[in-house]
Amino acid sequence: MQVNCFEEYDSHTLVVGTSQGLYQIAHNGHKLFKPVILKAGMECNSMYKDRKGMIWIGTSDGLYRMTPEAVITKVFSEPVNCLYSGDDQALYVGTATQGIWQVTPTEAVVVITELTKEISNVKQILTYNGQFMGLSQSGPFLLDKDTSHPEFPLGKAVQRFPMFQYVNHKYTCLLNDSDNDLWLGTYDGLTLWSTQEQKLYTIHTDQGLVNNSIKAIIEDQDHSFWVTTSMGISHLYKKAVDSGYVFEIQNFNTYNGLIDHAFAERAVFLTSAGVLYAGGIEGMNMLPTSKKNDQLNLHPILLSLKIFGKSKDLGIQELGITYTNSVELRYNQNFFTISFSGLNYINPLQTYYRFKLEGIDEDWREKKTMLGNGEANYTGIPPGDYNFHLQASADGMNWSDTTDSLHLYIAPPFWKTPWAYTAYVLLGGLVIMVTVVYFNKKMALRRQHAQNHAIEVAKSEFITNISHELRTPLTLVITPLRALILKINDLVLKKELLQINNNAQLLLDVVNQLLAFKKLDSGKETLQLQFYENLLCIEELAEQYRDFALQKGISFKIDVSQEAIAIFIDRQKVCRIVANLLSNALKYTSSGGQITVKAIVDKGQKLLTMEVSDTGIGIDANEQQKIFDRFYQAKNQKGSLPGSGLGLFMVKEYALLHHGTIHIKSVVGKGTTFTVTLSVGQEAPKHYLSEKEAVANETLLIADDNAGFRDYLKSELGMHYNVIVCCNGQEALEQTLLHSPDLVISDVMMPELTGAEFCKSLRNEVSISHIPVILLTGRTSDQARLEGYESGADAYLVKPFDIQVLRMRIEKLLELTRSRRKAFVEATIVETDRVATNSLDKSILNRALVHVYHNLKNPDYSVEKFSSDMFMDRTGLYRKLIALTGLSPTAFIRNIRLKKAAELLLQTSTSITAIAEETGFNSVSYFTKCFHEVYSKTPSQFRAERVS
Ligand code: ADP
Repeated sequence: MQVNCFEEYDSHTLVVGTSQGLYQIAHNGHKLFKPVILKAGMECNSMYKDRKGMIWIGTSDGLYRMTPEAVITKVFSEPVNCLYSGDDQALYVGTATQGIWQVTPTEAVVVITELTKEISNVKQILTYNGQFMGLSQSGPFLLDKDTSHPEFPLGKAVQRFPMFQYVNHKYTCLLNDSDNDLWLGTYDGLTLWSTQEQKLYTIHTDQGLVNNSIKAIIEDQDHSFWVTTSMGISHLYKKAVDSGYVFEIQNFNTYNGLIDHAFAERAVFLTSAGVLYAGGIEGMNMLPTSKKNDQLNLHPILLSLKIFGKSKDLGIQELGITYTNSVELRYNQNFFTISFSGLNYINPLQTYYRFKLEGIDEDWREKKTMLGNGEANYTGIPPGDYNFHLQASADGMNWSDTTDSLHLYIAPPFWKTPWAYTAYVLLGGLVIMVTVVYFNKKMALRRQHAQNHAIEVAKSEFITNISHELRTPLTLVITPLRALILKINDLVLKKELLQINNNAQLLLDVVNQLLAFKKLDSGKETLQLQFYENLLCIEELAEQYRDFALQKGISFKIDVSQEAIAIFIDRQKVCRIVANLLSNALKYTSSGGQITVKAIVDKGQKLLTMEVSDTGIGIDANEQQKIFDRFYQAKNQKGSLPGSGLGLFMVKEYALLHHGTIHIKSVVGKGTTFTVTLSVGQEAPKHYLSEKEAVANETLLIADDNAGFRDYLKSELGMHYNVIVCCNGQEALEQTLLHSPDLVISDVMMPELTGAEFCKSLRNEVSISHIPVILLTGRTSDQARLEGYESGADAYLVKPFDIQVLRMRIEKLLELTRSRRKAFVEATIVETDRVATNSLDKSILNRALVHVYHNLKNPDYSVEKFSSDMFMDRTGLYRKLIALTGLSPTAFIRNIRLKKAAELLLQTSTSITAIAEETGFNSVSYFTKCFHEVYSKTPSQFRAERVS
């Protein structure tokens, strides 16, 4: 049967109105006892207990009243739907067909006034904002208390009745709560009209309501609200926050013991003791105070831990972790899922969880699940110690006291374990140790090297010093010895003296060789190339060995080409090559043998080939390459022949310096042939000489009839220059013409041609007139000095003099020559007086300039034409120009062209193309290139800078 209404008879008895009669039910606050029927067959719709304890009962049969003594009497027979008592103590009756009546009971009679008849089937009446409001057959209505004029807001202007804006809804119940807010229950959810905010809230299952079909609503003593629906009851808390109202909802359904049917419309009741009664279409529910707040106490448990979605990796069974409270994971197992259950068997669909992984989550993470069980996912958790806590709730508001926890330890990867760190420290230590040891060793080695090097240097210096020490006395032995030999007429004595001389010479040669080796070995040896027109020097050298060979009974053949040639060689080194090869040949050839020296120049290829062959003991094939190594001596030597193993090494090195090669052809017992081929086409530096080059490159000619003094000068100056010695003026002139030295030192008093005469002749000889001359004399008179200068000498020294003074003089004069050449090249205007010191040279230079200027426009003006214009042979012109200007004829012509060009650039505005043409350059690009080489600027830059 449907339960429609309730009223409290006394504190232990309830009167219940049903669709089939009025009942009385006793209860003890927690439990209901069997109902007792008060009046059967009566369809009760509504009940009201007034202040006198009288219970008014509205039925479809009319209005009844029941006295506190339980005497029930009928008031009238008009069917009644609802009863309402306002603040004015009057009882308002909503009838089924006759509108709303006001019933005023007096002592004896009941006065009935008709309020309105215009509303039919009145279901509920209440007061809102001083007016009646209610529900009727035509939906909600409003009734003015004074005029009794009813109004039906549905379908009316929404602005006036915004609380009824859902015009299509079927309204089932209303409530004006203690805040004067209006609750409206409909078939499609609950709405709340906030009177103060003038704002309508809607609450649906989406917001957590148990069901959307609202049946009844009532406000509890704690101002929470109970809402019955067609399926369950929701308990609502209305909370005011800044933005308005929020609602917390707790639901009850059949799992909590509610009736399995829909509740009846407007059938709720709260007793004075706070017990809630709700009537349904089939039975009723009582929710005692204790039960109302009795939350479902959940005891959540952890079900499983899955790593990357799999649980078996861990070896933990599905329910494994419920039996353990600590789990250890590897560093790479940090993607895991913990699943859990609230063990909510009563209402699993209403299970709320919150969990927290301490160290990762700052706050609880909440989750509601519709499936009962929940999951927490964690990804990329770094190694460390963590505690997972879980709580469950059946309403999302009241959380279980019991918490399930799990301790998780994620181990660091092996390379971050303490063991690994220890290993790193040890390894680091080891590396540092090894490095320290290594560097210590390296330093020691370096020190050792430095020490060894220092010892080597000391040794080498010692050898050099000893060699120099030996050389001076040796020259002092040889010089007077030679003078002695010349003077002696006794043949026997002379022969012995010659032998002494030869051996002394040999010794000097060894010493010289040692010094040469030292220089070569230290890499300080450089080529001092000189121009040669023939191979006379080689022939002369070979000639010196003829006597010695003949003495040994060896036939000696010299085959040196007599052709005129033009080559550049370092004479000293070429001579040492030949001398070494020859002395070896003589050493390893016995009497009856033959030695041949050949020298020839390939003019086309510019190659000088020298060959020394003997018919001596020969060298074993597998030693033939080794003999060129330092200190190597072949095994072919019988007995102890003198030797150092340096000779061939030097031959090879000298050949290499000349960009040459050395070949050996040897057959043991038959003889040996050494062939040295040198590249001789490379010209000596054409431009003025740098100081460094000049020191080593320059050749001095010394002329003195005193052999001792001459040799002394040679040994002293020979350390710095190439030296040619002559014993008289005539020889000096010839040698000067032949070698064209850079400077001449001549004694004044000499046989055949005096120094002054020699100097005069030199100044008159075109090819050598530029050579500076230093005259040496014993006479101090001014007359003698004057004679000297008159003869054209550049300097005059009186014997005895300090050798250093002579050297200074030499250097000064050479420097002057160099600076003149430099000045010539760089100057834009040629000053012949600055370049040439004597009249002959000046006239030569002037002539040369005239010829070149004359042919300035002719790009084809050749050296041949230039030489013939100058009445000089090519070599002569070459030497002369080199001597005066440091330039070869070709370079000289080009330089004069450029000087003219520079002049034109500065003084005219002629175009560069025209100037190039004017000065005999075939193309502007070539002109620009040549110009840049001399002036380090392009013609246009030159003009721009100078003009500005
Ligand atoms: P050494 O000062 O010993 O002669 P070299 O470097 O000049 O040193 O020669 C190296 C070695 O080559 C010599 O020891 C010798 O055995 C061998 N050798 C050089 N020239 C000849 C030659 N013409 N005939 C035979 N053996 C030679």
